Amino acid sequence: MPQLSTLPTAAELDRQVHRLYAVARRARRIAYILAHPQATGDGVVYASTRIPRALSAARRLLALPGVTDHEETPYALSFLKEAEQRLNAPSTKLLRIAVAARQAAARADDADDDLRVVVFQEIEERCRFLIDAAAVEPVLGRRGWTDRERQASDALQEQAARWGLTEDADDVRPTPPTVPAYLSHQAAERAATRSRCAAGIRCTESTCLAYGTVKVTYLVDSWLCADCIKAANTRLNAEGHAPDPVRPVPGGTPESGHYTVTLYNAIGKGARSVKCSTPQRAQFIAETVRPFNNTGYTIHVTAPAPN
Ligand SMILES: [Zn+2]
Repeated sequence: MPQLSTLPTAAELDRQVHRLYAVARRARRIAYILAHPQATGDGVVYASTRIPRALSAARRLLALPGVTDHEETPYALSFLKEAEQRLNAPSTKLLRIAVAARQAAARADDADDDLRVVVFQEIEERCRFLIDAAAVEPVLGRRGWTDRERQASDALQEQAARWGLTEDADDVRPTPPTVPAYLSHQAAERAATRSRCAAGIRCTESTCLAYGTVKVTYLVDSWLCADCIKAANTRLNAEGHAPDPVRPVPGGTPESGHYTVTLYNAIGKGARSVKCSTPQRAQFIAETVRPFNNTGYTIHVTAPAPN
């Protein structure tokens, strides 16, 4: 009689299997985050903590008498297996590297370390490209990588480790590993842009190469150098406008103004804004952040809100 009492009733068993099923479905749903090439750091952390928790909850339920033999259990097990596979997949490793690379690129950018910025941005881009290639069939999971893509993934993981982007990597070495010529070239270009932008915002007259311009009246979104202010007024006066309508904005640009760089797609839809606190940084962002193939930009400045 005591033996009989330890067996669950059919209703209890159904309830346990139902819970198992719910846990398994949740794990599978969370695992979809890891199949998304643009997954964010928060998403990856969330999935990496929640899936193991769901798996151990499932293991506890599976240890209860009768649960493994229930006819619904194989479905739950297949969901759990899918979630676990995705958690441990090579593409998930790449996702973690992509997240680490993005953070490292932001730190390098703060430190004006152009070589690391271009290296980390490239690593992130290549990781996300491969994750995308691994997840082309959202319903069936992944088609898997070709041999070439698998080799590329291995090489990327090794490269990431050398740059200190993996959990098992040594601390970032003071001397960076050697990089291919095109990356040093990109880093040099970025450094050159940075020094150009040290003079301030570039003249918005497309043929003018002057930096260190001022925001002007009358012409919306324009930042002009002294010569282009003269030229604009000559043109406008000839067209019959009031004498010299274009001038530096009265009072100049606010000392602690906030700059907003709007990067837009010049031939299609889409725009993105980046905020910063100096004209030098605004111009640098305008020239180095290219979210579209044909990126145009405008720079706005606003006075800080009064306290
Ligand atoms: Zn100019």
